[in-house]
Amino acid sequence: MKSKAIRIDRNGGPEELKLVEVDVGEPGPGEIRVRHHAVGLNFIDTYQRSGLYKLPMPLQLGMEAAGVVEAVGEGVSHLKQGDRVAYASQPPGAYCELRVMPARCVCRLPDAIDFETGAAMMLKGLTAQYLLKKTLPAEGLEPGDHILFHAAAGGVGLIACQWAKALGLQLIGTAGSDAKCQLALDHGAAHCINYSTGNFVEKVKEITGGKGVKVVYDSVGKDTWQGSLDCLRPLGLLAVFGNGSGPVPPIDLGLLAGKGSLYMTRPTLFTHLATRESTQAMANDLFEVVGSGAVKIPIDQRYKLEDVQQAHRDLEARKTTGCTILTL
Ligand code: NDP
Repeated sequence: MKSKAIRIDRNGGPEELKLVEVDVGEPGPGEIRVRHHAVGLNFIDTYQRSGLYKLPMPLQLGMEAAGVVEAVGEGVSHLKQGDRVAYASQPPGAYCELRVMPARCVCRLPDAIDFETGAAMMLKGLTAQYLLKKTLPAEGLEPGDHILFHAAAGGVGLIACQWAKALGLQLIGTAGSDAKCQLALDHGAAHCINYSTGNFVEKVKEITGGKGVKVVYDSVGKDTWQGSLDCLRPLGLLAVFGNGSGPVPPIDLGLLAGKGSLYMTRPTLFTHLATRESTQAMANDLFEVVGSGAVKIPIDQRYKLEDVQQAHRDLEARKTTGCTILTL
């Protein structure tokens, strides 16, 4: 069987993303073959393309998609032919029509959730889930607590704004323009700071009456991590979960002592998705908030699979908001 796919043969800019035709075979033990209906675009795809995250070449990119199971390999019991499914996958390979992949990371999609929503929400929604529910300060988080969430108008950001509100948290967002700040507010952020024009540390102190926040969720990295530490109250937690502006350099741990016995972590979704059970439990939580309408998945951009170079350019140029999907 043949499938269109997007592949890179070496690290570099968006121009390295090439449309190719690949052969797709039968699933082996523990695998399924899935026909995609939509594919999710994620900022992590740009790290794998550029070489910030090194992976063997040639590389078929893409870590999120939704579709229908066409064939099931030996030993796969939780899926059958014809099931509607969605996934966040490691290793990558989702930029294609048809794919053979490990079944472990794939979940059945509830009937009420359409394929585009499924493709847009798995990697980003499961990330919001583990950040808000499992990446917590030593003192825990309670309704009414302030948290700071950078890049709040992005894919993970707009999901986190809504989910935090549903949990009763006062999410202070940051974003790169006034229009993006308005979008974050419209999605449930209690406050949003335009960090391209204002000092977010001062604004966070103002909003919290000088106390600071219990947690900062920072996916911007290089440009924000120092300010993020200054936004924390004593014993607060800085979770650096991305490198939007570049990675955080090696740091002197003494900094954390000087600013009030702070905690710092560098979490990744795939630790939380290590087993089928944990993946399904987290997905069920996501399906519930999306099914109930508490979290709506904002698909703000759609590109054809063939136009993936432009999708990468727009994502890296901060032109996108919310989620982006590739259509087939
Ligand atoms: P986004 O839609 O949030 O896009 C990235 C956003 O980062 C931009 O829109 C921009 O928003 C902001 N940004 C700040 N500085 C820069 C810069 N110099 N260049 C480009 N963008 C910048 O992407 P995703 O929702 O796909 O992912 C959000 C982040 O979460 C990414 O950093 C990603 O790597 C990380 N992530 C981490 C995971 C983990 O488990 N560790 C899992 C999933 C995602 P603005 O203009 O408002 O500043």
